Amino acid sequence: MKAAIFTEHGPVERLRVVGDFPVPEPGEGEVRLRVRAAALNRLDLFVREGWPGLDLALPHVGGADAAGELEALGPGVSGWQAGDRVVVNPSLSCGRCAACLAGQQQLCDSFSILGEHSRGTLAEYVVVPARNLLRLPEDVDYATAAAAGLVTLTAWHSLITRGGLRPGEQVLVVGASGGVNTASIQIAKLAGARVLVVGSSAEKLQQAAALGADVLINRAEEDWSRAVFRLTERRGVDVVVDNVGAETLFGSIRALRKGGRLLIVGATSGPHLNLDIRYLFARQISLIGSTMAPHSDFVRAMQRVFAGDLRAVIGRKLPLEEVAAGQRALERGEVFGKIVLEP
Ligand code: ZN
Repeated sequence: MKAAIFTEHGPVERLRVVGDFPVPEPGEGEVRLRVRAAALNRLDLFVREGWPGLDLALPHVGGADAAGELEALGPGVSGWQAGDRVVVNPSLSCGRCAACLAGQQQLCDSFSILGEHSRGTLAEYVVVPARNLLRLPEDVDYATAAAAGLVTLTAWHSLITRGGLRPGEQVLVVGASGGVNTASIQIAKLAGARVLVVGSSAEKLQQAAALGADVLINRAEEDWSRAVFRLTERRGVDVVVDNVGAETLFGSIRALRKGGRLLIVGATSGPHLNLDIRYLFARQISLIGSTMAPHSDFVRAMQRVFAGDLRAVIGRKLPLEEVAAGQRALERGEVFGKIVLEP
């Protein structure tokens, strides 16, 4: 089958698309999916680059998000048949531990993401557990479903479940264009919040406005955390969503009202921060780390996508052969929304 593989960790040049990769066989409780659309995530770049202690069976196939048709069922799979149209929850968990049995799969001891330690979706076929499937309604296309997957469940879990966002609250989303940000803007609006967005260009901010952002702050033109203070009548926002990390986290803390919640969902600019801890206790800030989601939040978020309440923002569609160009564009932050690959 066609697959985007790397045999050594490193830059995007290590990535190549081959035509003769073995088609994976579904084991007990698993299915094989014919991938019709996959979506890129920053995770794919991190996995390709590698990190200390990451020990993959090489060659590796990355990719967390996919939608497509079931092609083969492994032993013990019932309730599905070949040809069913599905989207895949990219969260992998054991299904047996206390966290999993309590419906908190994201807290499973052996939690991982599809394409992180196991072979993922950037191929013609992928094998996934049947319990990770969600049926696609007739009128939802594969690209929409694949593009929504990981970022929508991540944003839903952080804002709604972990962040407890309530109608009338003010939310600041740090970054306008990434997949989690475009999902966060829409989910915060859906929850009845006033949404402020910090972005790096007028163009990206206009696109954020089209998704429902109420207040746009261009960080190229002004000190954004001061702007937030001014735009909230010197109060600060109730909630900040920050997936940038080292570069922005201090500004995010300053943008919060007393008693505000900081949702930390990633660290794309780097993980280390030199922080004056007095800001946290004096201003009574809650730090809430969040990653991925339980299956229940995946289903809830995808139902809102299926209903059209949340829009999967697709910035670019490429054939699988152009996966390297897609990863370069993602690395450079050139695309607003998701990059979808169609094998
Ligand atoms: Zn578990």
